[in-house]
Amino acid sequence: MKAVIIGAGLGGLLSAARLSQEGYDVEIFECLPIIGGRFTNIDCQGFQLSTGALHMLPHGPTGPLAGLLNNVGADVSIVRSSPMAMIRIPSRKDDHDYSNGYKDIPFNKFGSRFSLWNRLKLSLLMITTRRSPPKKGTLGEWITKHLDEEHAHRTADAFCGWSLSLKNKEVPVEEAFDIFEKLYRYGGTGVPMGGCKSITDTLAEVIMANGGTIHTRTEVTGIITDNEQASGVIVNGVEHSADLVISDVGHIATEQLCTTSPLSQEYKQYIEELKDLKPSAGLKICLAANEPLIGHSGVLLTPYTRRVNGLNEVTNVDPNLAPADKHLIMAHQCVAWDRIDAIEDEIELGLQDLKEIFPEKNYEVLLIQSHHDDWPVNRSSSGMDISNVTPFEGLYVVGDGAKGKGGIEVEGVALGVINTMTHIMKNETPILGSGN
Ligand SMILES: Cc1cc2nc3c(=O)[nH]c(=O)nc-3n(C[C@H](O)[C@H](O)[C@H](O)COP(=O)(O)OP(=O)(O)OC[C@H]3O[C@@H](n4cnc5c(N)ncnc54)[C@H](O)[C@@H]3O)c2cc1C
Repeated sequence: MKAVIIGAGLGGLLSAARLSQEGYDVEIFECLPIIGGRFTNIDCQGFQLSTGALHMLPHGPTGPLAGLLNNVGADVSIVRSSPMAMIRIPSRKDDHDYSNGYKDIPFNKFGSRFSLWNRLKLSLLMITTRRSPPKKGTLGEWITKHLDEEHAHRTADAFCGWSLSLKNKEVPVEEAFDIFEKLYRYGGTGVPMGGCKSITDTLAEVIMANGGTIHTRTEVTGIITDNEQASGVIVNGVEHSADLVISDVGHIATEQLCTTSPLSQEYKQYIEELKDLKPSAGLKICLAANEPLIGHSGVLLTPYTRRVNGLNEVTNVDPNLAPADKHLIMAHQCVAWDRIDAIEDEIELGLQDLKEIFPEKNYEVLLIQSHHDDWPVNRSSSGMDISNVTPFEGLYVVGDGAKGKGGIEVEGVALGVINTMTHIMKNETPILGSGN
């Protein structure tokens, strides 16, 4: 059986590794000169920056991605962050910024700023919502209804901005509670030693050891579809036949590559579903410092800024991600859809935030990256993802344009690949993470 994969991002490489392990003859076509997509490193003055991700896995060594890597024989060391996350709050309760000082509190104490009444309500809600999670509306609406407090909205915005590049009012509440449940089940963040590149390079080694081929600088310009069946791809005007086509470029770009548009009802419904898909946008500011600015390996959430949602300092886990005695700090901020045209202003607001987050500290801005449109944070915003199957038999979509439910970023990519493999190999038992 022959499988062609479009794109050598994490989703494409995970699928290729799993299929090559099952004996498929796998061929990957990647249009860029490098593999890894938004999950690899770029060297900048000896700092290992990245093409997208912040060198962090949402569920660390016990999540779905770690489980899948283990299953395909990709040996990568992933170190659990400790603490998982801290929240920077103003030292004075009535302040709305850090100008009069701040303190960092553990993530699980996020309710400590709430009124006594809301703290009591929160304890009860934590039990009842696990038994019966809310289903309708957005997380923002749910917070307004149950805990209408500024601190709750700010903390939720920092969490959603950091992990999904969305505001809490944009996240469907069902998806949010699925994410919380997975945090309980799989645990918190972790850092792959060597950064993102260690994962995508190891997957490439597995694929090639299993006899697969990876072509770079090779763009797929068409997916051959006929009679609602995919039968290969077009590369440089040449047709390559395949039993399976796996696309890592999101549903919208995949559909645009298909050579036919069938008249079936299923296809019409699919086209309607695509209209709701929207990528999430974000800004990453990479800093270099001679001393630790955060001092731990978890996330520092910053709810009391104008824009920056959170930061990490991965050199506390892997010092090799920076030159000797230097630290790499990465700040992330969500960019609202209606602010993409004002990206320069968003950058300025982010830089001002950093001055307030790290007063009197010396650091250098290494790189500022804006991610939107064709190179977004997520090709499909969390909670909006549609299935990995398409109306064409033999054509599947993987990657962050078709994440599994409740999967934050690359964990969602792994869950989507697991769903796809379960569909292809009808009786495959899903390989999930080992959990806490
Ligand atoms: C700023 C930022 C911060 C992030 N932080 C984190 C984080 O800390 N943790 C986390 O888990 N996730 C994070 N993410 C998300 C994570 O990086 C992505 O979810 C993941 O890398 C997506 O992988 P993918 O395989 O879906 O897509 P991609 O990496 O985009 O791969 C798709 C590949 O397909 C190629 N391609 C496109 N069209 C064609 C074509 N026609 N022919 C051939 N090749 C083609 C592209 O060049 C690309 O290499 C972050 C993302 C961003 C942008």
